[in-house]
Amino acid sequence: MAGVKLLSKSDANRLVGILGKTYKNAKYYLNFKTPIDLVAAAILSAQTRDEVTNSVTPRLFEKYKTAKDYANADPDELYQYISRVSFGGNKAKSIIHTMKIIDQRYKGRVPSKMEELLELPGIGRKTANTILINAYGIVEGIPVDTWVIKLAPRLGLTSNKDPEKIEQDLMKMIEKKYWHNITYIFKTHGKTMCDKVPICSKCPVNKICPKNGVTKSV
Ligand code: SF4
Repeated sequence: MAGVKLLSKSDANRLVGILGKTYKNAKYYLNFKTPIDLVAAAILSAQTRDEVTNSVTPRLFEKYKTAKDYANADPDELYQYISRVSFGGNKAKSIIHTMKIIDQRYKGRVPSKMEELLELPGIGRKTANTILINAYGIVEGIPVDTWVIKLAPRLGLTSNKDPEKIEQDLMKMIEKKYWHNITYIFKTHGKTMCDKVPICSKCPVNKICPKNGVTKSV
């Protein structure tokens, strides 16, 4: 990406450390209690606002608790629980398909290995990292969501646009102790300070950020 001024490793970690202290309460944004809940919520959340996903999942999780519950579900009945999310019909089928594999191949347990998660339909690296971190406390990589894609280049942490390359760049640049919640820290920072019109004058990292002073989203 042309025009991205990359930070040094030490500045990058200083910046992430400051953001981490500023947004101490930043955490994963979808509600869930079990790994099975999390898989369903993650599939539902594609191209859907978190608030909408979180508004449908309490009733859904009450009705469907195990992979087998979902695997045996009638798509039309399942759809009734999730109709408010975008592409609900397709997502109902996708959840059932994925849960059938979890039920049959993994005896109802969501896999806890990256390569196994990536074999599940509808699960890419972002979701696999999200499941490993939030359901199992296993930190192998960094979930690269739309906020990470937007902020990582702006903050001088990558010159790439491709999510997998961004993840690799961040893993090289940022100390592992920050990986588990950097995604949620970026999202909170983006929403409060660094969205379409960045509020650089009040930003806690304005002394380090290469884009300090921009007047619109970059
Ligand atoms: S200084 Fe401005 S562009 Fe940089 S992170 Fe802060 S708000 Fe965003």
